[in-house]
Amino acid sequence: MPGFEVFGAEEKKEIDEVLSTGVLFRYEFAEQRKGIWKVRDFEGNFAAYTGAVHAQAVTSGTAALKVAMAALGIGPGDEVITQGFTFVATWEAIFDSGAVPVFAEVDETLNMDPADLEKKITPKTRAVIPVHMMGAPARIEEICAIAKKHKIAVIEDTAQAPGARINGRHLGTFGDCGTFSFDPVKTMTTGEGGMIITDSEDLWRKMSEYHDHGHDHVPNPGGRGGDGRSFIGFNYRMMELQGAVGLAQLAKLDGIVAAQRKNKAAMRKAISVLPGVKFREIIDPAGDSASFIAFFLPTAEEAVRVNKVLSDEGCGAVYFANNTWHYYPKWEHLLAGSTLAASGWPFKEADGRRRVVYDSAALPQSAAIIDRTLVYQVPVKLADERLAQIAAAMKKAVS
Ligand SMILES: *Cc1c(COP(=O)(O)O)cnc(C)c1O
Repeated sequence: MPGFEVFGAEEKKEIDEVLSTGVLFRYEFAEQRKGIWKVRDFEGNFAAYTGAVHAQAVTSGTAALKVAMAALGIGPGDEVITQGFTFVATWEAIFDSGAVPVFAEVDETLNMDPADLEKKITPKTRAVIPVHMMGAPARIEEICAIAKKHKIAVIEDTAQAPGARINGRHLGTFGDCGTFSFDPVKTMTTGEGGMIITDSEDLWRKMSEYHDHGHDHVPNPGGRGGDGRSFIGFNYRMMELQGAVGLAQLAKLDGIVAAQRKNKAAMRKAISVLPGVKFREIIDPAGDSASFIAFFLPTAEEAVRVNKVLSDEGCGAVYFANNTWHYYPKWEHLLAGSTLAASGWPFKEADGRRRVVYDSAALPQSAAIIDRTLVYQVPVKLADERLAQIAAAMKKAVS
């Protein structure tokens, strides 16, 4: 999964070009920058790579979700549905927009269950954020069809799945927009950074202006100081050094995915010896970014037992049932409504009335799956010794 594994001379060359001009800002400084526009080029290349019409760079994957919701007009009074198995950033961004996050179940894709999504739609629902967790797709075509029927927007949180496709079509291009993260552990990294892709000129223009303090992005001979504006904004701008790294990493993405697919196939073979093991459902195996391999044991007890053996052999898997950053029942701060705001916002209204309550037992279908699930991250570079160690540990776990 991590682009940091392949960080090298190409990234350094791109950065050096920026340093040679001293222009770190993505806009203006036309004379000093000697024709170097790294963030703009990164946006252009990212759009071309994914097949989207527009790409907007921002400071993080969390900011990408926030900017996408702002452009869609989402705010207080709205509900946004996501899934109970994701990184906390997805629902942090929903709260930050002023809306209330609603959590849907996952199925054996380990992504949103479309049937449960439909049950959770209310008159207040304005958008759904399916997450393509761990490199592989949600049932995005079914989700988009449900959203269309109910006239709600779809934002694909593609933070963990750049390079993944369904029948050749990139994840992130199915909904109204798709968001990406380039944080230090993602498939491609810029240290910190994010991207939003969309085919809508109107949405892109709103994102572009909102993320830049509302500056209207129409050519203005008077420079930025004289720009007009149509609405209030914020600052989520990416800087040139990040754009430079992004250009080099994007050029490596298909190579990263190809290496992961090969390594994932070898790991799958090793894992297959476990009795009763079943692998996560991948909608289009040919388009899997193969950043992770997830497998189900017959029971929670068996998953815990197997993982104990694997850990003792030096290759323990991730047991997300105990993970405090990715799984709903473990988000104690969400469940308790912990916030710095003296008013209790976003869990309480300004007058102290409770806005929303989260019940730790609200997602039994997800629990029945996650409790039996073990996961390995698939490295770009998998040493033969490491593979042999995993294979030996799997055999030891067969008892
Ligand atoms: C990493 C991640 C984010 C947030 O991205 P940052 O760049 O770290 O802000 C959002 N959603 C998911 C599913 C992620 O894994």
